Amino acid sequence: MTGRISHWIDGKPWAGVAERTGDVFDPATGQVAARVDFASRSEVDEAVAAAERALPAWRNTSLAARSRVMFAFRELIGRHRDELAAIVTAEHGKVLDDAAGEVGRAIENVEFACGIPALLKGGFSENASTRVDVYSMRQPLGVVGVISPFNFPAMVPLWFVPNAIACGNTVVLKPSEKDPSASNFIAELFARAGLPDGVLNVVHGDKVAVDGLLEHPSVRGISFVGSTPIARYVYETGTRHGKRVQALGGAKNHMVVLPDADLDLAADAAVSAGFGSAGERCMAVSVVVAVDPVGDELVAKIRERIANLRVGDGRRKGAEMGPLVTAAHRDKVTSYVDAGVSEGATLVVDGRGHEIDGDDAGFWLGPTLFDHVSPEMSVYTDEIFGPVLSVARASTYEDAVGLINDNPYGNGTAIFTNDGGAARRFQNEVEVGMVGVNVPIPVPVGYYSFGGWKSSLFGDTHAYGPDGLHFFTRTKVVTSRWLDPSHGGINLGFPRND
Ligand code: NAD
Repeated sequence: MTGRISHWIDGKPWAGVAERTGDVFDPATGQVAARVDFASRSEVDEAVAAAERALPAWRNTSLAARSRVMFAFRELIGRHRDELAAIVTAEHGKVLDDAAGEVGRAIENVEFACGIPALLKGGFSENASTRVDVYSMRQPLGVVGVISPFNFPAMVPLWFVPNAIACGNTVVLKPSEKDPSASNFIAELFARAGLPDGVLNVVHGDKVAVDGLLEHPSVRGISFVGSTPIARYVYETGTRHGKRVQALGGAKNHMVVLPDADLDLAADAAVSAGFGSAGERCMAVSVVVAVDPVGDELVAKIRERIANLRVGDGRRKGAEMGPLVTAAHRDKVTSYVDAGVSEGATLVVDGRGHEIDGDDAGFWLGPTLFDHVSPEMSVYTDEIFGPVLSVARASTYEDAVGLINDNPYGNGTAIFTNDGGAARRFQNEVEVGMVGVNVPIPVPVGYYSFGGWKSSLFGDTHAYGPDGLHFFTRTKVVTSRWLDPSHGGINLGFPRND
């Protein structure tokens, strides 16, 4: 007998019976842990209707009251941080410490949204013309949809939900069907923080639920995070239906190591960023570009470190890397290891043979390292999204940057060097949205914004931070004149700024 995970609509668990459901696995044991309801169109409509009903009162709730809800939520999520991390680990598989880190990064966005009264201030120009004042205000879009991927089941929903509701919108969140429980827990904590019913709703499911949001006439904005083909589809479908859409897609992140870099620091960084969360991060380092002559020494250092990585059940003490999210994903990643071998890359470490501290039926794959990877190989061209790290050799700095700029993705990148001039040149020249200098995973803090370039993002605004506020509000400019007895009667000329 397994548990059931259902929608959260209008401030409570949905009481209906779903026509379709899906399995939610414990990836460390391979067992079905729960079944999740898959929303039909009518369930999506129910959630949107709840959000619409809640909208008029919520958008006119004072900034002070909205901010107080956010502070209360901040307090609650902090208190329940370990519980939320345990939920993430149970369904995603990442180790507990990593899950706690995810929750910590999520909290940054809540803290940002706590400042909403100051953040939503508009401009005011007194006497723009004689006795005419001009001022701007930012108003919510209305009902917005948030669609999130499996790999950050707590953080990605919280990239969007706090800013969306702090700005006065109401939300329907559709998390990944692979690890849906974190979103329900977040909705429950928001309810306990005093968020009125209907302001945040959660529907579970697949394409049917996503299409229901994309095509619903009352949904005004869509924030999406997931793979590039689906991001493109969501952007095109949502905008065709008249919505504002931001759709963040996949990645192939390169880490350049220049000859003057500290190679121990670079090797530590490559292993952490390549294999943390089993490589299931959109900011994971997937390709290390070793600039001559450091390749051999760097590969040796990375290989040594991989040998010591402890792969196992994320709940067990000492585990550093957990399983992959599903058996199908594990098989897909394994097929890339097979392809790398057959395409001629040098297999330095074979993750298929790594020792595992966990149940045999879990979705395991150890860390793999390829060397001498070239741009036509599928391990290079495709986003693998698993524990497979490739090393490509470059003769010069220019070759390394050329490789990155030729890549269709542009999410994150990093350079390891002790040369400030080279680092500065790199940040200027590289066509990527987020750049690290001796920092392998440059996820911006909550008061900047997150977003890639090229095929890593469709739309004009990045996620969270200042861009998040822009996305979730529309600007209105008011030009106002209060007549006084001196007003001068009819004038058919164009209004002049005298
Ligand atoms: P995914 O694209 O399979 O799913 C994302 C969401 O879209 C889920 O909610 C899913 O239910 C829904 N979906 C799946 N197929 C759909 C379809 N055919 N039509 C409509 N909706 C559909 O992504 P995933 O496997 O859950 O997550 C991993 C991907 O997300 C990777 O590509 C990763 O790079 C990307 N990602 C990107 C960022 C970023 O900020 N750029 C962050 C995290 C993850």
